[in-house]
Amino acid sequence: MNEVRKIPVRKNIALVAHDHKKADLIDWAEFNKTVLARHELIATGTTGKLLEEKLDRPVKKMLSGPLGGDQQIGSMIAEGKIDVLIFFWDPMEAQAHDSDVKALLRLGVAWNILLACDRATADFILTSPLMLEEYECKLPDYTSYLKRNISK
Ligand code: PGA
Repeated sequence: MNEVRKIPVRKNIALVAHDHKKADLIDWAEFNKTVLARHELIATGTTGKLLEEKLDRPVKKMLSGPLGGDQQIGSMIAEGKIDVLIFFWDPMEAQAHDSDVKALLRLGVAWNILLACDRATADFILTSPLMLEEYECKLPDYTSYLKRNISK
């Protein structure tokens, strides 16, 4: 049976942007400053520093993405501590930490969180009426996976 995770009214929003996408994310965040003020912000190190400066508000900063920040956010997703991930990754440039990028996206889908990789989707998420309500998120059922028979 699917378990349910309650997403609170004040949501935990993680923000990550690759270097060539940082200006875009900061611009988006500034435009949506009032709505974002209703939620907690978590970010990878450099993105978080830029957001704090621009929005003049505290942002929980993890390590820089390539130094483990993506993985820290991924583990928070697995622990149910992130409700929304706004991840402006760069489709035009390979990253030194491509494996971490893939892992972060995978965990976002594995745990059925809200996930935007571009500005249009981020706009739709932020303007959803559900952003102002508590929401019951059905977690994927991994019971049969956990009980699988591993024969030697
Ligand atoms: P950064 O990390 O915010 O520390 O630059 C982003 C990323 O994952 O590349």
